[in-house]
Amino acid sequence: MSGALGGGEAVQLPARAPAAVNPPDGPLLSIVIPAFGEAGNLFPLYEEIRESVADLPAWELIIVDDGSPDGTWAEVQALNARDARVRGLRLSRNFGHQYALFAGLGAARGQAVVTMDADLQHPPAVIALLLAEWRKGSKIVHTLRIDQQGISWPKKLSSALFYRVFSFLSGVDLSAGMADFRLLDRQVVQELLRFQEDGLFLRGLVQWVGFPSARVPFQCRERLANHSKYGLRRMLRLAGAGITSFSVIPLRLGILLGLVTSLFAFYQLGEALYVHYFTGRTLPGWTSTFGVMTLLFGVMFILMGILGEYLGRILLEVRGRPRFIVADAVGETIPDGHPPVDVRGAGR
Ligand code: UDP
Ligand code: MG
Repeated sequence: MSGALGGGEAVQLPARAPAAVNPPDGPLLSIVIPAFGEAGNLFPLYEEIRESVADLPAWELIIVDDGSPDGTWAEVQALNARDARVRGLRLSRNFGHQYALFAGLGAARGQAVVTMDADLQHPPAVIALLLAEWRKGSKIVHTLRIDQQGISWPKKLSSALFYRVFSFLSGVDLSAGMADFRLLDRQVVQELLRFQEDGLFLRGLVQWVGFPSARVPFQCRERLANHSKYGLRRMLRLAGAGITSFSVIPLRLGILLGLVTSLFAFYQLGEALYVHYFTGRTLPGWTSTFGVMTLLFGVMFILMGILGEYLGRILLEVRGRPRFIVADAVGETIPDGHPPVDVRGAGR
């Protein structure tokens, strides 16, 4: 491995490209990329990005190594050594995609910030289209995946289902095919950085903050190397965080379920009394008694589960722990001497 950056196959670069901080002749574009176990992907990604933003007066690439077990951080350092426009943050362990993104947003200095995956599924050529919409006045430019090659059908199905349920429960409109590939204006980034909540779900927050937005469709490509980090467990966790941080409808669902089952129970009780006193018979049946009991217990446990879920979220919030820890950084500091990451602002 380590070959991706090492040795002779590397493309020729100028001795060390200069970092552009506060460019005199135009806005700075930041590209933020969370990376977990993406060794081997970063160099081709950098090359493609460099080509696709070649016309811009100034850009920076911020790669956030989310506690990767492989050589990801070494590649980030090597990229920074070649091109000072590449900056890197290393989180102290794996905090998860959403937090890595957030850490990157905190470090970005551009007037426009593009977030994308490290695996080249999000084609860097689309950046130009995002910028075009931004110049027309959109503060948020979403991308919409139109072609889902290389995405397995269980994933397509579960993501379509999740977005339906999420939109219904939260009233925040999300479409399937919207990933964390988008452009954010500086103003939106500043607003997002004020969010102190745990269980971050950027896809929802970005919709929630408002601002004029546009959508750009793109063709999703195959993952370059390694495999997706979103197994079923991670997907469920993200879905859970997304729903509980945006909606209390599941809690209200409890009231509804409770009403329906109590009505049912009242009816049964009423029927039993009626039959006993007016017909002189007694309704036979341990079976029905058990049936009702099991049903009620089932409903109760579901409700307790939902309550527990929200209670857990409250616990996470009130503890107020930092949401991620930056262990290391490479790249320029901002001229006035601030470190590249405002850990207080981005974390907590
Ligand atoms: N990622 C991360 N931390 C994690 C999991 C993923 O920073 O714990 C990064 C990953 O390297 C990639 C992006 O988040 O750049 C999206 O992950 P992936 O491609 O595995 O998700 P998918 O495209 O399958 O939804
Ligand atoms: Mg991906």
